[in-house]
Amino acid sequence: MVLGVDLNVDGYLAVTSTGAFLGNAEELNHKRDEYERRRGHLQQTGTRSAHLTIQSIGDRFAEWSHHRLHDVSNGIVREAVENECTHIAFERLTWIWTRISNASKFQQWAFREIKRQVEYKAEAHGIEVDTVAPQYTSQRCSHGECGFTHEDNRDGDEFECLKCGKELHADYNAARNVAWRLVQNWLKSGSGRATSQLALKSGTVNANGDFNASAV
Ligand SMILES: [Zn+2]
Repeated sequence: MVLGVDLNVDGYLAVTSTGAFLGNAEELNHKRDEYERRRGHLQQTGTRSAHLTIQSIGDRFAEWSHHRLHDVSNGIVREAVENECTHIAFERLTWIWTRISNASKFQQWAFREIKRQVEYKAEAHGIEVDTVAPQYTSQRCSHGECGFTHEDNRDGDEFECLKCGKELHADYNAARNVAWRLVQNWLKSGSGRATSQLALKSGTVNANGDFNASAV
């Protein structure tokens, strides 16, 4: 059973294939900007007390942002445990940066930190964390056996399949595709986990796309 996770630099920080919407990317970015601005002013002041203040607001911001990211990683692992998942799938981070070319160093750190936290928390539950290539996860229709892939399927937060008409939150659709891709990778590599399933909001989909609403 695979839980897919989609990470974002705006809107929700993380969305799972089970429909959990976690963390607030805007709040995190806003607080970071605020901290950078204050630090800039204090650095110009240059006094000893300004230097001490920089240290203390820096520590406070680091603590605050770690707490926010722990909320997110806890939420991801909780979804995986509640849905009896054996695996959690992320997009490969180095490949995400080619898609989100304007991501700040801070946003890159936040993604790495979420993944790091999920890895050690998941391990405690015997759950493995794996990564997949991120291509087309936002363009592909994750509904049933549809799989129609087109860039016009997505418009901001909204996903509407041009073929089957299915409407989903765009990040939720992407998270379902991340889970789907890991299962496809297994099938292609012949590791033969034909009984693999994706953990979805109102049920599960097996590797062939058959939906089982009663599973969750
Ligand atoms: Zn479709």
